Amino acid sequence: MIQIDLTGQVAVVTGGSSGIGLATAELFLRAGASVAICGRDSERLAQAEASLKTQFPQAQLLAQTCDVLDADEVAAFAQAVQARFGRTDMLVNNAGQGRVSTFTDTTDDAWREELDLKYFSVIRPTRAFLPMLRDASSPAVVCVNSLLALQPEPHMVATSSARAGVLSLIKSLAVELAPQRIRVNSILIGIVESGQWRRRYAKEAQPGQSWEDWTAELARKKNIPLGRFGKPEEAAQALFYLATTLSSYTTGSHIDVSGGVARHV
Ligand code: NDP
Repeated sequence: MIQIDLTGQVAVVTGGSSGIGLATAELFLRAGASVAICGRDSERLAQAEASLKTQFPQAQLLAQTCDVLDADEVAAFAQAVQARFGRTDMLVNNAGQGRVSTFTDTTDDAWREELDLKYFSVIRPTRAFLPMLRDASSPAVVCVNSLLALQPEPHMVATSSARAGVLSLIKSLAVELAPQRIRVNSILIGIVESGQWRRRYAKEAQPGQSWEDWTAELARKKNIPLGRFGKPEEAAQALFYLATTLSSYTTGSHIDVSGGVARHV
């Protein structure tokens, strides 16, 4: 693996207490960066913080409860990062979850909630951390988006539609922020093993069906060419690439991390 030294740099990962966000925080710490993570559930956050501190005893780590949909909490998180580290070089907008619903069973309120989550989980942290990113030498914003942005699924109608809108938002942000040297990119993921899927497994698996069997069956049903779910660290590696100078000439772009599910050329 290419080694990159991020000593002295600060990475902020929203939704860093689980799944992809936690795996991304690990990569940044491994590369020597100081890291700030947030999540809503204080217990889950404390567990993540403890696990990161065990793996990286010297870690410069800030863990703060924050709902990215709450402007005041996001502002307080940014202030805490400013107070503790004095800078932000990389922002990973990862916090969120998907919504399984068809057009028929999605209410107006559900549409509004979903659009709110997908847009404001990018808008609020980006706005709050922008002043610090402007002062960084190689600043980057990376967003976790889904392949649904380009390949909608009717059983996730609101999520798919919102994801497409966010892809457009990211493109606009990339162009607007380029003169300030801030790169903005995203990853488009398919299915990645994480907290959300563990919760669906707990609800939907047949009695006695193992996690491995359940995910393998789903990968077959969903025709994933690589035949399996992705791992959080596989999404994290793409985020790490886009957040660092490894991708210094890339902005307004995305990396497909879907195991080959994309059908377009
Ligand atoms: P996890 O459930 O494992 O992690 C989600 C993280 O986001 C948790 O830390 C959670 O903590 C946090 N979070 C959720 N909502 C908020 C909020 N409003 N404010 C702050 N933190 C929040 O799931 P994943 O790792 O899979 O999810 C990461 C991202 O990837 C999400 O945006 C998800 O939609 C996206 N994604 C995932 C796919 C997959 O197959 N795994 C597919 C497509 C997209 P807490 O609940 O305590 O707030």
